[in-house]
Amino acid sequence: MATTPKPIRIAFVLDGEEFSWRPITLPFSLEGYPPVDLVLYAAKPEVSAPRVEPLTDLHPEEFDLILDSQAVTAGLPDFSPDQQDHLITGPTAGLLEDLVCQLLELRQKQEINSGIIHSAADAIVTINEDHLIIGYNQGAEKMLGFTRQEALGADLSLIIPPPYKAEHRDYLRRYLATREARVIGKHLRLTALRRDGREFPMSISFSVADIGGNLYFTGIIRDITEYQEMEDRLVQSERLAAVGDTMSHIAHEIKNPLLIIGGFARQLLRLPAFDDKGRQKLSMIAEEVTNLEGMVAEMREFVRRPPAQKRPGRLEVLISEVLELFHDTFSENHLKVNRVEESPLPEISFDAKQLRQVLINLFNNALEAMPRGGDLTITTRGRGESVEAVVADSGAGMSPEVVANLFQPYFTTKAKGTGLGLAISQSIIQEHGGSISVDSTPGQGSAFTIRLPRTEPVPG
Ligand code: ADP
Ligand code: MG
Repeated sequence: MATTPKPIRIAFVLDGEEFSWRPITLPFSLEGYPPVDLVLYAAKPEVSAPRVEPLTDLHPEEFDLILDSQAVTAGLPDFSPDQQDHLITGPTAGLLEDLVCQLLELRQKQEINSGIIHSAADAIVTINEDHLIIGYNQGAEKMLGFTRQEALGADLSLIIPPPYKAEHRDYLRRYLATREARVIGKHLRLTALRRDGREFPMSISFSVADIGGNLYFTGIIRDITEYQEMEDRLVQSERLAAVGDTMSHIAHEIKNPLLIIGGFARQLLRLPAFDDKGRQKLSMIAEEVTNLEGMVAEMREFVRRPPAQKRPGRLEVLISEVLELFHDTFSENHLKVNRVEESPLPEISFDAKQLRQVLINLFNNALEAMPRGGDLTITTRGRGESVEAVVADSGAGMSPEVVANLFQPYFTTKAKGTGLGLAISQSIIQEHGGSISVDSTPGQGSAFTIRLPRTEPVPG
C-alpha cells in the first residue's frame, strides 16, 4: 500500500512588503512525490498578510530548508550548528527560491493534467515499447472492467480480443523498426475486450511521445456501442426505403400477368382436352402461381403498410386468436402448443391487424423450423415498463451467421422463402415503439421475444 510521503518543509524569509506574488496552492499531493509545505516569513513586523508569518515565529528545527535571500535571519540568535546546514542565505537562496517556485508551478500543471486524464470519461491507456501498460485512467477502469492494479504492468493484449492479440505486437515492432505510422493521429474503429469477456466496438485514436529516447504510445478509447446501433438502424431503414421503391414497382408489374396465367391455367384444367399428365402439369402451374401471388402480396404488404392504427387491447387475446387460426395446421404437423402466462399483462395499445401479421410470421417460421413436429411455447409477461411475448420452438435453431442477418429484407435460407417475414415484423414492432430479438441454439430451437411498451391508459 502506498503511504503518503512526509512533506518537505521550506521556509521563505522575505524582506520586502509584496507577499502576494507567488500563486501557490499547498500542499501538493502528486503520486510518488513528497508534498512541499511552504511557509512565508516576513522580516518586517508591521507586515501582516494571509499565510505570511512574522519572522519572530520562525522555529528553524521545523524546517528542512530555510531560504533567506537578504540574510535577514542573521539577526536571529537560536540557530543551532546543524540547523545552520539548512539555512541558505544570500544570492544562492534567491536562485533556489526561484527554482522551487518553478518546480511547484510545474508540478501544479502536471497535477492538473493528470487530473484531466485520470477523470476523463474516455479510456486513456499508455503502453511502453515493451507493449506493457504504464498508464490506465479511471475511464479505462470503467470501460474495460480491469482495475488499475490489474492493468498497470500487464501486457496490452489484456484488452485486445483474440484475433488481433498477436498482430498488435507486430504492429508495434514494425513501428519501432520503421517509425512509419499508419495509425498515429487517426481515429480507428476496432473492438476491445472487457474483463468479463464481452467485446465492444470502440473508436480509438493513437498518439506517440518520445521521452528521452523512449517511446510511449497512448490510445484514447471511446465506447461506440450505442452509436453503432444507431448507425445500423439508420442503414437498415435507408435500405428498406430503397428496397421498397423497387419492390413496389416490381410487385405491381407482376401482379396482373400472374392473375392472367393463374386464371387461364384453372380454366384449362376444367377442359376435357387434357390427359392426366397434362392436367397434373396445369395444376402445378396453378399452384406455383398461387405461391407467387402470396409472395407478391407479402412484398406489397412490406412496402405499402399503412401507419399503425393503435387501439387499446390485450395481447394474450390476440395470441389466442392467431393460435386458433393455426390450430389445424399445428395438429396436422404434430406441433404441441404450450401457453405460459408468467404474469398478467396490462392492456396496451396496438394495431391488431399488424401484430396479427407479426404473430403469423413467427408461427409460420416456427412451423417451418419443425418439419417433424415439436413444441411451440408462447410465454407472456409484464416486465417493468414493457410487456413481453416469447415465441419459442424446438426446431433446428440457427447458426450465428443466420442470426446476424435474420431481420434483413430478402434474407432467407429457404428455397421458397421471401426473407421478408421478419423484416416486416421488426418494422411493425419498431413502429409500435418496441423491439424484437432472438435467442437461438443450433439443434435445440429458437426463441423470438417481442417487447412492446406499456402505454398510458387511454382516457374514456
Ligand atoms: P423466410 O421465412 O421467408 O425465409 P423470414 O424473414 O421469416 O423469411 O426468416 C428469415 C430466415 O430466418 C429464414 O429463412 C430462416 O433461415 C431463419 N428463421 C426464421 N425463423 C426461424 C426459426 N423459428 N427457426 C429457425 N430459423 C428461423
Ligand atoms: Mg418467414
